[in-house]
Amino acid sequence: MDLSGKTAVITGSNSGIGLGIAWELARAGADIVLNSFTDNDEDHALAKTIADETGVTARYIQADMSKGVQCRDLITKAERCDILVNNAGIQHVAPIPDFPVEKWDAIIAINMSSAFHTTAVALPMMRKAGWGRVINIASAHGLTASPFKAAYIAAKHGVVGLTKTTALETAKEDITCNAICPGYVLTPIVEKQIPDTMKEYDMTREEVIENVMLTRQPSKEFATVEQMGGTATFLCSSAAAQITGTTISVDGGWTAL
Ligand code: NAD
Repeated sequence: MDLSGKTAVITGSNSGIGLGIAWELARAGADIVLNSFTDNDEDHALAKTIADETGVTARYIQADMSKGVQCRDLITKAERCDILVNNAGIQHVAPIPDFPVEKWDAIIAINMSSAFHTTAVALPMMRKAGWGRVINIASAHGLTASPFKAAYIAAKHGVVGLTKTTALETAKEDITCNAICPGYVLTPIVEKQIPDTMKEYDMTREEVIENVMLTRQPSKEFATVEQMGGTATFLCSSAAAQITGTTISVDGGWTAL
């Protein structure tokens, strides 16, 4: 796999899956643009570490993916975007009547609308370059549902729909768009859910992991950020050139149930 000469922009990539994907794409030779809404020394240090250890160019560009204009500015500031990974995401758990309006708005904006805005600016760049890969990080929750995650599930199903539409609008070009649907990966977004679930079910951390989270994952193992990065890298390979408009589940069998 040689992605040298390509630039990958990964939204929400100062931790978890986005950072894992950035590392794997950098190892394959792609120049990297990291992003999140924060702008501190640690964020820029992540880019420097990737650059130092892989030899690619890596930059950090601050932009808040809850704001359409900033999503668009991120891609403009990157100047080049051959590989776009729409990964930024947040989560909130509550029954529909109690779901805070501002949480609904933020989840729809960050998890779904941001992918529309970045794609809108990236596609003309990809067309100019004659090659492009859009990879949307959806979820097993983009294909299935469960109670109390209305906004997250609506947003992730929306991302799957956007993926298909993007694929159809680019089908005759050397541009593909696919969604990766992870099952549980032990990243900060999942870590944050553990204390509340422990309280709710009066369980230990180990019990929550085994009896609540991994009950849905037949492999009984968390997927890893490296596996997400490997899947993203595969989608950039020539072997995947005819794969477009689809979802790839990396979920230990969750969606096979
Ligand atoms: P994470 O919390 O480590 O990563 C989320 C990233 O989004 C962080 O880098 C965070 O800084 C960024 N982010 C949040 N709000 C932002 C904003 N307003 N603007 C820009 N960036 C913002 O969690 P993760 O598990 O790595 O999640 C990454 C993606 O994977 C999300 O879209 C999530 O829904 C999806 N996902 C995760 C799992 C899992 O089990 N971890 C499963 C399925 C899907």
